[in-house]
Amino acid sequence: MKIQIQDLSQVYNNDFRALNKVNLEIEPGMFGLLGPNGAGKSTLMRILVTLLKPTHGEVFVNGLKLSENRADIRSYLGYLPQDFRFFAKLKTWEFLDYAGSLAGIKNKKQRLAEVDSLLDQVGLYDVRNRYANKLSGGMKRRLGIAQALIGDPKIVIVDEPTTGLDPEERIRFRNILSNLSQKEVIIILSTHIVGDISSTCRQMALLNKGEVHFEGSPEQFIDQSKGHVFKTNVSFEQMKVISDSYPVITSVPNADGYEIEFVANQDNGWTSTQVEPNLEHAYVYFMEYVANDKFQYQ
Ligand code: ADP
Repeated sequence: MKIQIQDLSQVYNNDFRALNKVNLEIEPGMFGLLGPNGAGKSTLMRILVTLLKPTHGEVFVNGLKLSENRADIRSYLGYLPQDFRFFAKLKTWEFLDYAGSLAGIKNKKQRLAEVDSLLDQVGLYDVRNRYANKLSGGMKRRLGIAQALIGDPKIVIVDEPTTGLDPEERIRFRNILSNLSQKEVIIILSTHIVGDISSTCRQMALLNKGEVHFEGSPEQFIDQSKGHVFKTNVSFEQMKVISDSYPVITSVPNADGYEIEFVANQDNGWTSTQVEPNLEHAYVYFMEYVANDKFQYQ
C-alpha cells in the first residue's frame, strides 16, 4: 500500500487557497499530519477519502488515480471524521453492525464476529448494549475508530481524534492506533496536538497555511531544532523581557524567579545552557522561526 499526493491544491470560493501544491508520499505505518487549526488538514483528509474533489493535482493509491477509481479506493478506506455523529436510536453493537453492512460485510455471522472482536479491541464490549449516544465522550471516539476499522481497511484516516479527550482517554486512543500500526495498514492521523505525534509515527508532515513545511520522521523533525532550545534561570523582572523576545515553553517558579526553557533562532545573549529538544520544542521552533514568513521573534 502506498499513497502519493502530487501537486495537490484546493481553492475554496474561487479565492481562498486552503491547500497549495502539497506533495507527500505515505507508506504503511502511522503517518502524523501535524498543523495548527486552519492549516488545511481536514481539507486534505476529505480529499483522500473522496468526499472532496481537489481543484488541482492528483492522489495515487497503489499507482491508481483517485480521481478515476473513487469507488475501488473507497472500498479499502476507513474514516473517522472530526465531527463524527451517531444515530441516536442504535445500541453500540447495532451501530457497528450497521457500519459493517455499509463496509460491505454481507454475511451476518461474519459481521457479528467482527463487531464483537472490534468492541473488545476498543474496550467497549461491556457497554455493547448501551445506546451509542449515551456513551461518554471518550467511548464515542473509540466507537468512532471501531466503525472506521470494520471491514479490515488498508487505509485508515482519523481527523483530530483526540480533541476534547481527557489525558487517560487520549493515551488509550493512541494505544489503539499504535496497535493497529503493527499491521501493514496506512494510518493517517491529523492533529494539532503535538503529543499525538508520538514515536509510534514512522513518518510525519507539518502543514501550515496549506503548505507542507516538513516531511520525514519525528526524529528528523526534532533534529532540526537542535541547538535552538535553551534553559536558564530568570528573575521575575527578566521573565517579562525574555517572554517578549522568545517563545517560552516551560517555566517553573523558584525562590528568585523562574527556571525556563525557551526557543531561540541563534545565540541569544542570555546565560543559558542548551537543552536536548523534544517534539514540542521542535514544533514551536518550526512554527515560530521556519514556517512563518514574518518572524515574531528575533
Ligand atoms: P484544519 O483541519 O487544519 O483546521 P481545514 O482544512 O478545516 O483546516 O481548513 C483550512 C482553511 O480552509 C480554513 O481557513 C477554513 O476556514 C477554510 N475552509 C475549510 N472548509 C471550507 C469551505 N467548505 N469553504 C470555504 N473555506 C473553507
